[in-house]
Amino acid sequence: MPQVRLYNTMTQSVELFAPADGRMVRMYTCGPTVYNPAHVGNFRTFLFEDLMRRVLRLAGWEVDQVMNLTDVDDKIIRRASEAGVTIGEITGPVTERFHADRRYLRIEDAERYPRATESIPEMIALVERLVARGVAYQADDGSVYFAIDKFPAYGKLSRLDKREIQSGARVAQDDYAKENAQDFALWKAAKPEDEASGAAWDSPWGRGRPGWHLECSAMAMRFLGETLDIHCGGIDLVFPHHEDEIAQSEAATGHEFSRFWCHGQFLLTDGAKMAKRVGNVATVADMREQGVSGAAFRHFTFSTHYRKQINLSPEALEASLEGVRRVGDFAERLEGATGGTPELAAAAADLEREAKAALFDDLNAPEAMGALFRFIRRANSELDRSGTDVAALERAREAFALVDGVLDIVPDRVEGDAELAAYVEGRLADRRAARARRDFATSDAIRDELTNRGIAIEDGPQGTRWKKLL
Ligand code: AMP
Ligand code: ZN
Repeated sequence: MPQVRLYNTMTQSVELFAPADGRMVRMYTCGPTVYNPAHVGNFRTFLFEDLMRRVLRLAGWEVDQVMNLTDVDDKIIRRASEAGVTIGEITGPVTERFHADRRYLRIEDAERYPRATESIPEMIALVERLVARGVAYQADDGSVYFAIDKFPAYGKLSRLDKREIQSGARVAQDDYAKENAQDFALWKAAKPEDEASGAAWDSPWGRGRPGWHLECSAMAMRFLGETLDIHCGGIDLVFPHHEDEIAQSEAATGHEFSRFWCHGQFLLTDGAKMAKRVGNVATVADMREQGVSGAAFRHFTFSTHYRKQINLSPEALEASLEGVRRVGDFAERLEGATGGTPELAAAAADLEREAKAALFDDLNAPEAMGALFRFIRRANSELDRSGTDVAALERAREAFALVDGVLDIVPDRVEGDAELAAYVEGRLADRRAARARRDFATSDAIRDELTNRGIAIEDGPQGTRWKKLL
C-alpha cells in the first residue's frame, strides 16, 4: 500500500491517511443546496472531492462517498412560497441541473446522493438522543436548540474562542428564546410558509423542520456509520457548519465523528470569493457558452493546489484550453503510434512514479500535471524516432491512462454527445424550474436559446423530449 498523506483541518497538519478498516474509505461530502444552479465556485469544491475519491482509489482502496442534497432550507422555502408551489417543485429541476453540470465536468458519481427530506426520521431520532443526554432543549419559540455550553469541546475544529464564536455566528438579534446566543437550532418550529410549501413534519416537539447542520450529521451517520474516515467541504464550512456537525454527532454518540476533516479553498473572481451574495457568479452553462470544455475546466482547477485560492480569469481559461489541446493531440498520437523506444518506457516509469508521489502527497494535482506535461514533451520526441518497441509503447499508454484516470483532462475530439446532452438536459431542467415558479419569460427564452443552437424540443405527457436538428 502506498503512503497517502492528507492535510487534516482538525490537527492543522499533514497526516498519514488510511481507512479505519484498511479497505473502504467512508467519505462524506457536503452537497449543494438545490434552490439555484450551483456556480463554478461550488464546483471547485466538488472537483476537489472528485480528485480525492480518484486518488484514494488509485491508492488501492474502495470509496463509499455520500453527497447530500440540501432540499429544505430558508431560501428554498422562500422561493417556493413566493411561487405558491411546494419545495419539491423547486428542488427537483435544480437537482437535475446539478447532475447535468456535474457530468459536464466529468465529476464521478458518488455512491449515494441522499436528500435531506428523505431522512427526517433519522434527524428526529438524533435530536431525541441529544435531548435525552441533556445537551438540547426546546425553547419558548417551539424550536429545539443545541446548548453549546454543555459540549466543552465546542470550537475544536475552528479553534475559535468563545468571543470569536459569538461574533462569527449568524445570530439573529431578536432571537431571545435561546438560553445562549450561540446555541444553534436543531429543529425549527414550523411557520405558516413552511406548512404551505410542504416543509413541515410531525415531531415530538410539534410540527417543524430540521436545521441545516442536523441534516448532515443524521445523513452521514445513517449511511456511513458513527465514525467517518473523511469529511469534506469548502473552507467556509469549517465554522459554523462543521463545528456544529461535530457537536451534535459527538454529543450524541460519545465518540469521534470524523477521523479526517478536509477543506478546499475558494474560487475567486477579480480577487473576491465567488458567491451569489456578491453577484459575481458564473455557472457551468456560462463556461460552455464560452467554449470551455469540462476537460479545460478541470485543467484550470487542478493547476492550483486545492488548499490555495484560485482566480477565475479569461486568460487562465485560455491557457487551460491550450493545455488540454496539447494533451488531446498527444493522446491521439499515442493511440495511433505503432511502436516506441526504451527511452519512452523510461519516461513512462518516471511519469507514474512522479504523478503518484505528487497525488499521494496531499493531492498535489498541479505537480502531477507538471509531470504529465514533462512526459508529453519527452514522449513526443521519442515518438519522432519511429521506434519499434511495442512493449515500451504499451507502457507509455498505461502510464498516461493511469494519470489521466485521475485528472481526466483529455478533451473530446468533437463536442461529445455526452457533453451536449449534459448541456441540453441542464437547460431543460432550468426551464422546468422557471415554469415551476411561473416565470414564463425565462422558460421561453431558454426554448429560443436551444432552437438557435439547433435543438428542437417537444413537450409531451412523458415530459420534454429533445433532438438535434441537422
Ligand atoms: P452551498 O450550496 O452554498 O452549501 O455550497 C456548496 C459547496 O460549495 C460548499 O462546500 C461550499 O463550501 C462550497 N463553496 C461555496 N462558494 C465557494 C467558492 N467561491 N469557492 C469554492 N467553494 C465554494
Ligand atoms: Zn454538511
